[in-house]
Amino acid sequence: QQELLQKSEKLSIVGQLAAGIAHEIRNPLTSLKGFLQLFRSKLGKEKKYDDYFSIMFNEFSRIEEIVGEFLILAKPQPKSFKAMPIDLLLRDIVKLLDIQAILNNVQIFTDVEPGLPPICCDENQLKQVFVNILKNGIEAMPYGGMIMVSARRSESGDLSLRFADQGPGIAKEQLAKLGEPFYTTKEGGTGLGLMICHRIIESHQGTISISSEVGQGTTVEIILPPAMPHCISNSAPQESQDG
Ligand code: ADP
Ligand code: MG
Repeated sequence: QQELLQKSEKLSIVGQLAAGIAHEIRNPLTSLKGFLQLFRSKLGKEKKYDDYFSIMFNEFSRIEEIVGEFLILAKPQPKSFKAMPIDLLLRDIVKLLDIQAILNNVQIFTDVEPGLPPICCDENQLKQVFVNILKNGIEAMPYGGMIMVSARRSESGDLSLRFADQGPGIAKEQLAKLGEPFYTTKEGGTGLGLMICHRIIESHQGTISISSEVGQGTTVEIILPPAMPHCISNSAPQESQDG
């Protein structure tokens, strides 16, 4: 069972609105948080109040996370494309998520075919995609497990990146919903992670698809074209770009 993510058009209306709100919320939020910190320094000595403050700060983090994801989604992020070796990108990300993986008893293995051509990418944005996918993998395995990350060249000459986890898998009905804004099965989820991934991969002239079967784990595959010789900063990976 496989589903190609391509639901991002649905964002245009909802997302623009949400981003507008997110943007407006951010400043007052920062100010509120500052005052809260001040109060905590005065009142937090009392255990009871300190507990309340902890709850409030947790709730703040949650709002910040949602607001942050909205902003990533809706603001057309300025892109600066560069030819980058894929193994380097993956290594950085695995390192970044190491602590989270260890805490969750998850091991991440990477297997990168030697001699792969670089990809023309916006480093930060592509890393954001890898982080979102790996986080989903980690979150799918609350009792631990393995995530295999592999990169190889496909027959067509494109680069294929796969992230395979040993989680519970995704039922067919749910698979069709992936990539829709706000679709989440997690208590603390935003349901925006995959949509962000799709957006970014699309802007890299690539595709992202998810295959999964209940009880068999989930594999996310990203296909990206290899960098062309003219891949330089601030230009699209191929041809021209608009909107
Ligand atoms: P969130 O992680 O905030 O829920 P995402 O867009 O990242 O939002 O993912 C949407 C949903 O897709 C998740 O809630 C989950 O149900 C499903 N999903 C994504 N990745 C996996 C995975 N590796 N294993 C199982 N389910 C997954
Ligand atoms: Mg997610």
